[in-house]
Amino acid sequence: MDCCSTSSSLLTLNQALEKLLSQAVTVCQTEQIALTQAARRITAQAITSPINVPPFANSAMDGYAVRLSDVTASAILPIAGKAFAGQPFHGEWPVGTCLRIMTGAPVPAGAEAVIMQEQAEVLENGIRFSTMPKAGQNIRLAGEDIRQGAEVLPAGAKLGVAELPLLASLGVAEVNVYRRLKVALFSTGDELQTIGQPLQDGQIYDTNRFAVRLMLEQMDCEVIDLGIIRDDESAIRDAFAKADSLADVVISSGGVSVGEADYTKQILDELGQISFWKLAIKPGKPFAFGKLSHSLFCGLPGNPVSAALTFYQLVQPLLMKLNGYSQWQKPRQIKVKTTTPLKKTPGRLDFQRGILSSNAQGELEVKTTGHQGSHVFSSFSQANCFIVLEQERGSVAAGEWVTVEPFNALLES
Ligand code: AMP
Ligand code: MG
Repeated sequence: MDCCSTSSSLLTLNQALEKLLSQAVTVCQTEQIALTQAARRITAQAITSPINVPPFANSAMDGYAVRLSDVTASAILPIAGKAFAGQPFHGEWPVGTCLRIMTGAPVPAGAEAVIMQEQAEVLENGIRFSTMPKAGQNIRLAGEDIRQGAEVLPAGAKLGVAELPLLASLGVAEVNVYRRLKVALFSTGDELQTIGQPLQDGQIYDTNRFAVRLMLEQMDCEVIDLGIIRDDESAIRDAFAKADSLADVVISSGGVSVGEADYTKQILDELGQISFWKLAIKPGKPFAFGKLSHSLFCGLPGNPVSAALTFYQLVQPLLMKLNGYSQWQKPRQIKVKTTTPLKKTPGRLDFQRGILSSNAQGELEVKTTGHQGSHVFSSFSQANCFIVLEQERGSVAAGEWVTVEPFNALLES
């Protein structure tokens, strides 16, 4: 059998991503907010430093500030004063004397070097130094770390633990960021029950809305949760219309395949335009993407593993582009050997859940989490990576090389 003949009508993941991203226009509205409120927000413009860092020349050591010409092998220099961090020395500093200085203290005018205290001998009438200092020794210059006016962050950077304290150290109190994306979310299915309610005959809990909501919150989106919508054409149509009026992006789950109660695709077609709805990936073949009047629409498959995977692989990059996060990078891929055989049929790009670890030799290797059914959500909690098996590849024997994609923060946190 020609392995790819069945998939010719299906879009590859990269083709789908290209289509998706070509329709994503970054939100243009920005807002000025306090630094203390800016965690996880995305900078809308480059940020430059309003000050020099350090703001003044200061000592890198506990020791003595000297003029070079005063220091000779035999000279004993009396201490003329002291400079501490936060307490500069402003007194008179006679020639032939030195100043006691502590780490972080402003270097007094005229000082050419700081000699560390380990190289100084304290005598009754002053200090004798065991080395000849070089000009500038142990002095941190003003602006040495960051020059006033220099760019510290580009536009499109995410503000996190590395960035916010840096801005705080520059005295930046407010930042200009893109507004948060509004994402409306609903699940479809007569069988779905809300978490916390008892299950009736034939019901299952609504996993997808919860999983997607968590991932949206990770990405700092404003979530508009429209709940569970019954498999009823007009109820789904109403949900589409309401979601479209409220959000930048509408995400549904379920009802995208070709069953009798699958209305998602039909209503997307009726109220907007379908861009594509079939992907050559596993899990996650039915995934609908298109446009509504005001928003972009992503219809996730109903099976929870498929919903989470397509969200991760397709919706995540889409939202990152929409919210202006230009520094975002696709999850990295690496090649390792699998220690377990992996079942696969040629035809679709397969994202199996795997456990990546290092062996006794310190080499990375991967094994399967076991059953790979698209309803087996527990595979996610055991896994820490996807094993990405190429579209044309068949089953894999233990010991073969495979591509692995470690989960990023969206699935790991
Ligand atoms: P569907 O795409 O609507 O045909 O759903 C495919 C499978 O996923 C069915 O077994 C559904 O019961 C299941 N399913 C659909 N939506 C959810 C959900 N929100 N949470 C858990 N399972 C779901
Ligand atoms: Mg359904």
